Amino acid sequence: MTAFHLTEEQIQGLADGTLRGPEGFAAREHADGCDECSGELAMYAALVDRLSTLSDPPVPDDFTVEVLDAVDHRERALQQRRHTVLAAIPAGLIGLFAIFGWALSVAPTAHVDRFLEAWTLARHVLAAAAPVVDATRLPLGLGALVFSAAIVALLLRAMRGGTAPTPASS
Ligand SMILES: [Zn+2]
Repeated sequence: MTAFHLTEEQIQGLADGTLRGPEGFAAREHADGCDECSGELAMYAALVDRLSTLSDPPVPDDFTVEVLDAVDHRERALQQRRHTVLAAIPAGLIGLFAIFGWALSVAPTAHVDRFLEAWTLARHVLAAAAPVVDATRLPLGLGALVFSAAIVALLLRAMRGGTAPTPASS
């Protein structure tokens, strides 16, 4: 019995009470007859005692109330956000309907006319721009497309704005 001392785990188990049964009994018996192990056990027991007092801080009386309050608050915030999203969907749909309704019903002919005007202008611009593109030997395809698109966009903006400043009219 005295040939082997208790392992650290056994001493810990004895100290915190987790080592039970025959093994715990034998370990306790050894510690009782062994100065070295009983000294270590006393040290561990003191440590466990101190840890147990440290690990149980006083719980405030309103702890549960506070936790429930926080949970409730969070739940309410989430619900409110959900309601906001749900309320935004019909609002967005109404906005879309309003825009489409305005575009289609208020002055449909005016819109079509403006579109046709822009299209005619764009065709003229494209026809005028083609030789320029050829002459300057810009790569056809994407480059020409971007160039024409930029001109069309500028003209469209000038048309739509009416008062938009044009660089050539200075
Ligand atoms: Zn021992």
